[in-house]
Amino acid sequence: ATPTAVMVATGKGASQGVLIKGGQALEGAHKVKTIVFDKTGTLTIGKPIVVNTKLYKNMALQVFYETIAAAEVNSEHPLAKAVMEYKTKLCSSHGQREDPLAEAKEFLNIPGQGVRSIVDGKEVLVGNQKLMVEYSIEIPEEVAEDLHETQMLARTGVLVAINREIVGEVAISDPVKPEAAAVIECLKSMGIRSMMVTGDNWDTAMTIARELGIEKTSVYAESLPKDKANIIKEIQTTGITVAMVGDGINDSPALVAADVGMAIGAGTDIAIEAADIVLMKSNLEDVITAIDLSRKTFHRIR
Ligand code: ADP
Ligand code: MG
Repeated sequence: ATPTAVMVATGKGASQGVLIKGGQALEGAHKVKTIVFDKTGTLTIGKPIVVNTKLYKNMALQVFYETIAAAEVNSEHPLAKAVMEYKTKLCSSHGQREDPLAEAKEFLNIPGQGVRSIVDGKEVLVGNQKLMVEYSIEIPEEVAEDLHETQMLARTGVLVAINREIVGEVAISDPVKPEAAAVIECLKSMGIRSMMVTGDNWDTAMTIARELGIEKTSVYAESLPKDKANIIKEIQTTGITVAMVGDGINDSPALVAADVGMAIGAGTDIAIEAADIVLMKSNLEDVITAIDLSRKTFHRIR
């Protein structure tokens, strides 16, 4: 392709909200054979909401949520925001003024697992099964069953332990983007394989993958940020050109590792900086727009 053709394509992309950072990024896109999608905030809308609560001890719902909110108040995690919002909603639906939260001491954020705090002198743990295992907390059969049920519904189950005892489970839902399934199908027809990688648990990941038509063998769950980058590198060793689509800070190593990194416009600044292409409208259809532009520019129309 001539420099003029590249310039025209880049300009066309920009006018459609697809920011291509240079000729190399544009050229890489037509060779892509595999795309690895982050789950939360990329394939899903990324605004998780509380949809169900299970209590296992004699505890008022409001007290339960006040305790979790106090423990999570210092967390930036979307799941933490979901419980904070739900707590506020509970208060207002009871026509109450929101009381100030109890003070949380010794706040500890455990990446990929959850948080630990001391609230009113009690140890509060909020997070996944791994977190509970880490703190040697027994998960009763009933809780394990509820958690499994939650995950099979494509939701994330957050467990809450107070003083080393599980007191509740919160089911949080983050629906898939309306265009996601069609985009994956279209990519398939273009000869491109779609994969998914997430820090979330395997059951939730598999359920969402099934919903989207992503094959079982194309899913990686319970992945840490460095795992995400390693997955990309491993695929590249087979000579395949790989794109990564992500939105989070934890996606940035993978966005850099990929031959073509694509960031969701609504994502974090760090992801946007790490990417070669930015999808300003945060619409997954623009993954196709970018590849089409590249194919047309580099005469690889199929
Ligand atoms: P992702 O954003 O893809 O879910 P993370 O690595 O941020 O990946 O988190 C992985 C899992 O760890 C979450 O699905 C959740 O189960 C748990 N987790 C992490 N942080 C929190 C938190 N602040 N509150 C509750 N659970 C958390
Ligand atoms: Mg994400």
